[in-house]
Amino acid sequence: MKKTVLITGTSSGIGRASAQLFAANGWNVLATMRNPDAEMELNALEGVKVLRLDVQDESSIFHAIADGIDHFGRIDALVNNAGYSSFGIFEATGADKVQEQFDVNVFGVMNVTRGLLAHFRKNREGLIINLSSRGGLVGLPMISLYCATKYALEGFTESLAFELASQNIAVKLVEPSGGVTHTAFSERMAAEHALLAAHPDYDAFIARTGAAFAGMRAARKVSAEEVAQVIYEAATDGKNRLRYFTGEDVGGFVQAKRDLPDEAFTEFMRQRFPQ
Ligand code: NAP
Repeated sequence: MKKTVLITGTSSGIGRASAQLFAANGWNVLATMRNPDAEMELNALEGVKVLRLDVQDESSIFHAIADGIDHFGRIDALVNNAGYSSFGIFEATGADKVQEQFDVNVFGVMNVTRGLLAHFRKNREGLIINLSSRGGLVGLPMISLYCATKYALEGFTESLAFELASQNIAVKLVEPSGGVTHTAFSERMAAEHALLAAHPDYDAFIARTGAAFAGMRAARKVSAEEVAQVIYEAATDGKNRLRYFTGEDVGGFVQAKRDLPDEAFTEFMRQRFPQ
């Protein structure tokens, strides 16, 4: 029997590439997005049903799940992919922007997950894959809110995995490195940044941080399609494994955090991001 996956945020990037890849491998795909009216490509693919789902709108979550089950009979897997990054100095970021960042990257994931759990329990099996980031493992300047949400997602996912193992529901994390190509991630980040006006006291720090990031590009960029391959592997390998990494450990940050004592790690990071 064909399996069915529900994916959030399939209008672009990793979510879209994942919808195409799962469909190409014979899965039924509930390709959800905020604005499905303009979608022409995904709904032309065999086994793909495009549905409206805004992770900030609980009623759209409820209806997308109900319509999806109605259409394909059942849902076997969920990919919580929808997400974005704010960019800029925390002091310049209003409470509304903080709320929105958590609404999409954390509370949205929790609400979609909660919406599917009763169905997974009824099926006596299920799979949840959450898109995190290296920014969920190491804190970085200028993206403090994004890191805060992905740290929250890491803690939530790691904890939830225990509870749901008791229900035969697997929970996994996919961790792309920054700068995945064929996504709209950087454009949204730039648009978010353009809305903020930082205090001039931060100008020198922002310039130094920008230079540090510029000197730290991955030697080989990973595409949305390659990340989708890793998501597909996580969905199908049957392994009891929590984290799947894609791309390089740019700057060696994740390795350094694992290997170094706390003070040495702080010194390692401060050398790369001078105050
Ligand atoms: P992307 O091309 O910008 O895709 C993000 C998707 O999330 C879009 O479909 C967007 O829909 C959707 N989205 C945003 N807010 C939403 C909401 N309220 N409800 C439903 N969907 C919403 O970026 P991407 O790189 O593919 O990002 C996918 C995931 O990978 C994110 O969780 C991101 O944090 C993670 N990630 C990306 C990178 C990277 O370098 N690109 C690195 C690490 C982790 P709209 O078109 O409607 O805005």
